[in-house]
Amino acid sequence: MFKIKILMDHKTRRPLKLKSDILDDQNISFQATQRYDMEGDDHIMTSIETPMLPHAFEMSDDEKINQISHYFGQIMDILGLDRSDDSLKGTPHRVAKMYVKEIFSGLNPANKPDIKLFENKYKYNEMLIEKNITFYSNCEHHFVPIIGKAHVAYISTGKVIGLSKLNRIVQHFALRPQVQERLTIQIAEEIKAAVQSEHVAVVIDAVHLCVSSRGIKDNSSSTITSYYSGNFEDEAIKSRFLQHL
Ligand SMILES: [Zn+2]
Repeated sequence: MFKIKILMDHKTRRPLKLKSDILDDQNISFQATQRYDMEGDDHIMTSIETPMLPHAFEMSDDEKINQISHYFGQIMDILGLDRSDDSLKGTPHRVAKMYVKEIFSGLNPANKPDIKLFENKYKYNEMLIEKNITFYSNCEHHFVPIIGKAHVAYISTGKVIGLSKLNRIVQHFALRPQVQERLTIQIAEEIKAAVQSEHVAVVIDAVHLCVSSRGIKDNSSSTITSYYSGNFEDEAIKSRFLQHL
């Protein structure tokens, strides 16, 4: 079988060049590939932090766009697409720019929203819920969309943040290759840190296009994940929160 290998420079962790490699069917790498395929289809999460290379942000955005554009062009070539066609000519650059500047821009900590804290002047001690926050993310196993709604809540311990910031926190972590469980935890942890309160709840209801448009092709199911901490672990408070959704 035919396989494309990207060689990494171990010092800079950057791709060196594309090299085609002929692998026979019984090759260990092929078996490993099959195992990773199955793990991906089972949507297994390996860590709460997005797994990143140590030198992830040494390269400028422009340089990343240039390199991704080059490699995406190669993928199109391998698929047999004629890139001299006017409609396809700009695709590698468009995809690269979209990856770096839009749909994966949340990988870069520099793009994390600035959160300004305010005093809780009204002494509002009930839960504050921001519900139906629409987000678009991408599954890290297949790089196809996850489309969903996030419902988030916190109980102030003296500080509050602007409502739009809750929305921005959700969007920031959605703009990464993701698994839904990690997205849920990352949003919750960020809200906790932002409002300096342990009392946080997050519920996410999302459809995964890798489940609906390919693989099992189930277009009616959705995936629900939740996170409760602090007072939200109390059944009465949790159920009050859920009643509002
Ligand atoms: Zn997937």
